[in-house]
Amino acid sequence: MEKLNGKLYINRLCAATEPKLRFNGTTREEFDKWRENTLAEIKKILKFDKLILAPFKCEKQQSANKLKSPNGCVYKRELWYVDTLEGLSVPVFVMIPENGNQKPALALHCHGADGKNGLVGIVHNDITDNEKKFTFSYAFDMLEKGYTVFCPDILGSGARKPLTLEKPQKSDCSAINNALMSLGYNLLGVTMCELKRVVDFIAEFQNVNMDELVCVGFSSGGLNALWLAALDERIKTVYVSGYFHSLKKTALHSNFCGCNFVPDMWASLDMDTPAMLVAPRKLYIETGRDDNLNGIDGLENVYKLVDMVRKVYINIFECANFKFEVCEGKHKWYGVFMDEFYSK
Ligand SMILES: [Zn+2]
Repeated sequence: MEKLNGKLYINRLCAATEPKLRFNGTTREEFDKWRENTLAEIKKILKFDKLILAPFKCEKQQSANKLKSPNGCVYKRELWYVDTLEGLSVPVFVMIPENGNQKPALALHCHGADGKNGLVGIVHNDITDNEKKFTFSYAFDMLEKGYTVFCPDILGSGARKPLTLEKPQKSDCSAINNALMSLGYNLLGVTMCELKRVVDFIAEFQNVNMDELVCVGFSSGGLNALWLAALDERIKTVYVSGYFHSLKKTALHSNFCGCNFVPDMWASLDMDTPAMLVAPRKLYIETGRDDNLNGIDGLENVYKLVDMVRKVYINIFECANFKFEVCEGKHKWYGVFMDEFYSK
């Protein structure tokens, strides 16, 4: 028998694994039934039943007035701590524009941004202007559109990074996820529970209109934004940049960080599933034509998923709330849909 090396063996397993939760129906009735069952299965995969929420508690630690964004928007910035799971608390920067429109935006950081710090412009000296502009400028972009912007640290990043072996702006997802998986949990499940609690915090925040809640993220921020919108209907619009592709097509090729891996996930679904669970709410996805994170097949696999999601929006919901754009370039924040978020 032919002996396979690790990569060929994984590729063969990937090819032989069809996601068992994939939606194959054509009617609204079938979709609603699928959604109910799929959400229940995903919550099992994410171990929601074992994760115990802490009582709701939030506390303001700092406030800074009259700051200016890169394009001159005057705002104040507050630092809050929000209790999430038992024993965990999330630090959240809240940027409130002086002449805001009461719309809230949850901006989720990518890796390399030093968690929430990069999004609010507190950056390490070795971060280049290009990195600032092209990978984590979206919190300011939303602020300048009049949004009150909430920027939490994801577990393993920013102030919540337990290891110091790598640069401080990098994330410790792999170390944390390995430990969590060995204990029967996973990082995505913990992160989703924490972010749902952050949405509770936004709902309690003064002068915000929850009917307008947007969640935006680039790269791993896009991963978390997509999943949060799939699991929490209070997210009315989700903007995913630089993170939409077939999970299996990245195997041993790209997306090596632990935040991408959940036991049983690839056997159950691909990325079309969380995207379909957002329907019929607004879903914007942008990617770079040369984004290496799209995996071994590049855009070919992305288009297949996009077509499946588009069919759900158009055929089942008869709405144009799903938009997808391929931008010319590599892995970066493009912001092609920012004009959709005009100030009122
Ligand atoms: Zn990660």
